[in-house]
Amino acid sequence: MWIIITRKHLYNLAIIILSILILLVLSQIFFEDESSIVFNTTPKGYVVLIIDDFGNHSNGTKEMLDLGIPITAAVMPFMPHSITDAKAAQDADLEVILHLSMEPNQGKKEWLGPKGITCDLDNNEVKCILYDALEEIKFAVGINNHMGSKATQDPRIMKSILEVAKEKNLFFVDSKTSPKSVVWKTAEDLDVPCFTRDVFLDGTKDINHIKKQLLSLGDIALKKGYAIGIGHVGIEGGKPTAEAIKFVYPYLRDRGIHFITITELMKILDK
Ligand SMILES: [Zn+2]
Repeated sequence: MWIIITRKHLYNLAIIILSILILLVLSQIFFEDESSIVFNTTPKGYVVLIIDDFGNHSNGTKEMLDLGIPITAAVMPFMPHSITDAKAAQDADLEVILHLSMEPNQGKKEWLGPKGITCDLDNNEVKCILYDALEEIKFAVGINNHMGSKATQDPRIMKSILEVAKEKNLFFVDSKTSPKSVVWKTAEDLDVPCFTRDVFLDGTKDINHIKKQLLSLGDIALKKGYAIGIGHVGIEGGKPTAEAIKFVYPYLRDRGIHFITITELMKILDK
C-alpha cells in the first residue's frame, strides 16, 4: 500500500518535531535538580562557621560532625580526645584548625588547660608549645585562640606565635576576645593571612538566641561579602548550636549565602 506524503503531512511533522524540542527545553528548566540550581547561583555572600573547643569529645561533638555542612573544627591540643576529635573531624571532611589556649585578662590560670600560652613565657617557650601542639593536631591548616584577651594584646607573644604560623604556612583567625587585640597588625607586619571573628554564635544553650546570631551573621555576609561566626561544642553551646545551624542553614542558603571554609575564603579573596 502506498502512502502519499503531501505538503500538509510534512507541515504536521515539522510541528510535532518542534513541539518535542520545546518540551525538552522546558523539562530542562523545570526539572533541573536542586544541587545544580544551587551550583549555578552566583553567591551573594559567604559564611564561615568555626566551631571551637573540640578535643574533649564533649556535648554536641557528634552532632557537629554529622551536620554535613562545611564547618571548621577548632581542636584544642593536649586534651584527652585531641587526636581522636581531630581525626574524626578530618574523616567527616571538615577543615581542622588548632584552637590555641591563651591567657585571658580575667579568670583562673587552670581554665587554660595544659600548656596554655601565658604572657610570662619567653619567645622560645611560646614557640615550643606551638610546635608540640601542631605535632598533635597534624591536620591543622590554621590557628585560632581559645580565650586570650590578655595574650592577644601582647605584641611580643603574638609575634612569636605568628612567626611559627608563617613558617608552617598557617593562617590565623582572631577570635577577638579583646578590643585591644594586636593580632591583625602583627599578622600584617609578618605577612601572615589573618581573619577576625564577626559573631559569637552561642555562649548559651538558648537555641532562639543562637538562631538570631546566625541570622545576623548572614546579614553581615550579605553586606560585607563574607562573615565569620564562632560557635562551640561543650558547655558554651554543643547540641543547641548544632540544631540551630541545621535549622538556619537552608534559609541562609536560599538568600544566596554559600557556606565555605577559611581555605576557600582565602582563594576567593586571593590572600
Ligand atoms: Zn575555646
